[in-house]
Amino acid sequence: MTDITSAKAPAPAAADPLEDLARELLTEIGENPDRDGLRDTPRRYARWWREFTQYDPGTVDTTFESVSSGQTVIVSGMQVWSLCEHHLLPFTCTLAVAYRARNDILGLSKFARIAHKHAHRLQLQERLVADIADEIEKTVGSPDVAVVGSGEHLCMTMRGIRTGSLMTSSLLKGVFEKDGPERTELLALLQRVAR
Ligand code: ZN
Repeated sequence: MTDITSAKAPAPAAADPLEDLARELLTEIGENPDRDGLRDTPRRYARWWREFTQYDPGTVDTTFESVSSGQTVIVSGMQVWSLCEHHLLPFTCTLAVAYRARNDILGLSKFARIAHKHAHRLQLQERLVADIADEIEKTVGSPDVAVVGSGEHLCMTMRGIRTGSLMTSSLLKGVFEKDGPERTELLALLQRVAR
Protein backbone atom coordinates (compact mmCIF):
# COMPACT_ATOMS: atom_id res chain seq x y z
CA MET A 1 0.00 0.00 0.00
CA THR A 2 1.35 3.40 -0.96
CA ASP A 3 1.97 5.87 1.79
CA ILE A 4 0.11 8.87 0.41
CA THR A 5 1.21 11.18 3.18
CA SER A 6 4.84 11.08 2.10
CA ALA A 7 4.32 10.47 -1.60
CA LYS A 8 2.56 13.77 -2.32
CA ALA A 9 3.63 17.36 -2.01
CA PRO A 10 1.64 19.36 0.56
CA ALA A 11 -1.64 20.71 -0.82
CA PRO A 12 -1.42 24.36 -1.82
CA ALA A 13 -3.02 26.78 0.62
CA ALA A 14 -6.72 27.29 -0.03
CA ALA A 15 -7.31 30.11 -2.48
CA ASP A 16 -8.54 33.36 -1.01
CA PRO A 17 -11.79 34.35 -2.78
CA LEU A 18 -10.99 38.05 -2.29
CA GLU A 19 -7.61 37.60 -3.96
CA ASP A 20 -9.29 35.72 -6.81
CA LEU A 21 -11.73 38.61 -7.19
CA ALA A 22 -8.88 41.11 -7.34
CA ARG A 23 -7.15 39.09 -10.05
CA GLU A 24 -10.38 38.95 -12.04
CA LEU A 25 -10.92 42.66 -11.60
CA LEU A 26 -7.41 43.43 -12.83
CA THR A 27 -7.92 41.20 -15.85
CA GLU A 28 -11.32 42.74 -16.62
CA ILE A 29 -9.86 46.25 -16.72
CA GLY A 30 -7.18 45.14 -19.15
CA GLU A 31 -4.28 44.63 -16.76
CA ASN A 32 -2.01 41.65 -16.40
CA PRO A 33 -2.23 40.55 -12.75
CA ASP A 34 1.07 38.72 -13.15
CA ARG A 35 3.13 41.75 -14.12
CA ASP A 36 5.71 42.86 -11.59
CA GLY A 37 3.89 45.83 -10.06
CA LEU A 38 0.64 43.91 -9.62
CA ARG A 39 1.87 40.58 -8.34
CA ASP A 40 1.12 41.38 -4.68
CA THR A 41 -1.87 43.60 -5.36
CA PRO A 42 -4.54 40.88 -4.90
CA ARG A 43 -3.08 40.03 -1.49
CA ARG A 44 -3.06 43.70 -0.46
CA TYR A 45 -6.58 44.13 -1.80
CA ALA A 46 -7.85 41.19 0.23
CA ARG A 47 -6.08 42.44 3.34
CA TRP A 48 -7.47 45.97 3.00
CA TRP A 49 -11.06 44.76 2.62
CA ARG A 50 -10.75 42.61 5.73
CA GLU A 51 -9.00 45.40 7.63
CA PHE A 52 -11.79 47.80 6.74
CA THR A 53 -14.83 45.59 7.32
CA GLN A 54 -13.53 43.72 10.35
CA TYR A 55 -12.27 46.84 12.12
CA ASP A 56 -12.52 46.57 15.89
CA PRO A 57 -13.28 49.93 17.52
CA GLY A 58 -12.68 48.55 21.05
CA THR A 59 -15.06 49.21 23.91
CA VAL A 60 -17.68 51.76 23.00
CA ASP A 61 -19.98 51.70 26.00
CA THR A 62 -17.94 52.84 29.02
CA THR A 63 -20.01 55.46 30.81
CA PHE A 64 -19.52 57.45 34.00
CA GLU A 65 -22.07 58.88 36.36
CA SER A 66 -22.96 62.44 35.42
CA VAL A 67 -21.62 65.10 37.81
CA SER A 68 -23.93 67.86 36.67
CA SER A 69 -26.98 68.05 34.49
CA GLY A 70 -27.95 70.75 32.06
CA GLN A 71 -24.70 70.79 30.10
CA THR A 72 -24.52 70.34 26.39
CA VAL A 73 -21.40 68.42 25.41
CA ILE A 74 -20.14 68.61 21.85
CA VAL A 75 -17.28 66.58 20.40
CA SER A 76 -16.44 68.01 17.01
CA GLY A 77 -13.88 67.74 14.26
CA MET A 78 -13.82 63.92 14.26
CA GLN A 79 -12.90 62.68 10.81
CA VAL A 80 -13.76 59.17 9.68
CA TRP A 81 -13.55 57.36 6.37
CA SER A 82 -16.34 55.20 5.09
CA LEU A 83 -17.40 53.59 1.82
CA CYS A 84 -20.40 54.62 -0.24
CA GLU A 85 -22.56 51.55 -0.71
CA HIS A 86 -23.74 52.67 -4.14
CA HIS A 87 -20.29 52.93 -5.72
CA LEU A 88 -17.87 51.27 -3.30
CA LEU A 89 -15.93 54.52 -3.32
CA PRO A 90 -14.65 56.21 -0.18
CA PHE A 91 -16.15 59.20 1.48
CA THR A 92 -14.69 61.14 4.32
CA CYS A 93 -16.95 62.61 6.94
CA THR A 94 -16.19 65.19 9.61
CA LEU A 95 -18.54 64.75 12.52
CA ALA A 96 -19.82 66.79 15.40
CA VAL A 97 -21.70 64.88 18.08
CA ALA A 98 -23.66 66.60 20.85
CA TYR A 99 -25.68 65.32 23.77
CA ARG A 100 -27.14 66.36 27.07
CA ALA A 101 -26.52 63.89 29.86
CA ARG A 102 -29.41 62.65 31.98
CA ASN A 103 -27.61 60.10 34.19
CA ASP A 104 -24.56 58.85 32.37
CA ILE A 105 -21.78 60.59 30.53
CA LEU A 106 -19.68 58.97 27.88
CA GLY A 107 -15.87 58.79 27.95
CA LEU A 108 -14.44 61.19 25.40
CA SER A 109 -12.70 58.61 23.20
CA LYS A 110 -15.91 56.63 22.92
CA PHE A 111 -17.41 59.16 20.51
CA ALA A 112 -14.63 58.48 18.04
CA ARG A 113 -14.90 54.73 18.59
CA ILE A 114 -18.64 54.83 17.92
CA ALA A 115 -18.08 56.97 14.81
CA HIS A 116 -15.45 54.55 13.44
CA LYS A 117 -17.55 51.52 14.32
CA HIS A 118 -20.37 52.71 12.06
CA ALA A 119 -18.10 54.12 9.36
CA HIS A 120 -16.28 50.83 8.80
CA ARG A 121 -18.92 49.23 6.61
CA LEU A 122 -20.70 50.06 3.40
CA GLN A 123 -22.64 53.20 4.26
CA LEU A 124 -24.63 56.21 3.23
CA GLN A 125 -23.77 59.43 5.01
CA GLU A 126 -27.35 59.89 6.20
CA ARG A 127 -27.37 56.41 7.74
CA LEU A 128 -23.92 56.90 9.25
CA VAL A 129 -25.18 60.02 11.06
CA ALA A 130 -28.35 58.20 12.21
CA ASP A 131 -26.44 55.09 13.37
CA ILE A 132 -24.08 57.19 15.48
CA ALA A 133 -26.97 59.15 17.01
CA ASP A 134 -28.83 55.92 17.85
CA GLU A 135 -25.82 54.32 19.49
CA ILE A 136 -25.05 57.38 21.60
CA GLU A 137 -28.68 57.64 22.67
CA LYS A 138 -28.68 53.97 23.65
CA THR A 139 -25.34 54.15 25.44
CA VAL A 140 -25.89 57.27 27.55
CA GLY A 141 -29.61 56.71 28.04
CA SER A 142 -30.50 60.24 26.98
CA PRO A 143 -32.66 61.03 23.95
CA ASP A 144 -31.07 64.48 23.64
CA VAL A 145 -28.53 63.73 20.96
CA ALA A 146 -27.46 65.55 17.81
CA VAL A 147 -25.05 64.49 15.09
CA VAL A 148 -23.93 66.63 12.18
CA GLY A 149 -21.76 65.17 9.44
CA SER A 150 -20.02 66.91 6.57
CA GLY A 151 -18.64 64.64 3.92
CA GLU A 152 -16.76 64.65 0.65
CA HIS A 153 -17.81 61.75 -1.53
CA LEU A 154 -15.39 60.45 -4.15
CA CYS A 155 -18.36 59.08 -6.12
CA MET A 156 -19.19 62.71 -6.81
CA THR A 157 -15.68 64.18 -6.86
CA MET A 158 -13.88 61.69 -9.11
CA ARG A 159 -16.73 60.23 -11.16
CA GLY A 160 -20.16 61.37 -12.35
CA ILE A 161 -20.35 65.14 -12.12
CA ARG A 162 -16.67 65.34 -10.98
CA THR A 163 -17.19 68.30 -8.70
CA GLY A 164 -15.63 68.72 -5.29
CA SER A 165 -18.28 69.53 -2.72
CA LEU A 166 -19.29 68.91 0.84
CA MET A 167 -22.52 67.22 1.78
CA THR A 168 -23.82 68.07 5.22
CA SER A 169 -26.49 66.08 7.00
CA SER A 170 -27.80 66.41 10.52
CA LEU A 171 -30.00 64.56 12.93
CA LEU A 172 -31.29 66.47 15.95
CA LYS A 173 -33.21 64.45 18.52
CA GLY A 174 -34.88 64.99 21.90
CA VAL A 175 -34.68 68.58 23.18
CA PHE A 176 -32.61 69.53 20.13
CA GLU A 177 -35.39 68.60 17.75
CA LYS A 178 -37.85 71.38 18.52
CA ASP A 179 -37.41 75.11 18.99
CA GLY A 180 -36.27 75.90 22.51
CA PRO A 181 -33.26 77.14 24.49
CA GLU A 182 -31.30 73.87 24.10
CA ARG A 183 -31.65 73.89 20.33
CA THR A 184 -30.73 77.56 20.11
CA GLU A 185 -27.66 76.97 22.29
CA LEU A 186 -26.67 73.90 20.24
CA LEU A 187 -26.88 75.73 16.93
CA ALA A 188 -24.81 78.63 18.30
CA LEU A 189 -22.20 76.22 19.69
CA LEU A 190 -22.03 74.27 16.43
CA GLN A 191 -21.37 77.50 14.59
CA ARG A 192 -18.45 78.22 16.91
CA VAL A 193 -16.88 74.81 16.50
CA ALA A 194 -17.58 74.39 12.78
CA ARG A 195 -14.41 74.21 10.76
ZN1 ZN B 1 -21.75 56.98 -4.11
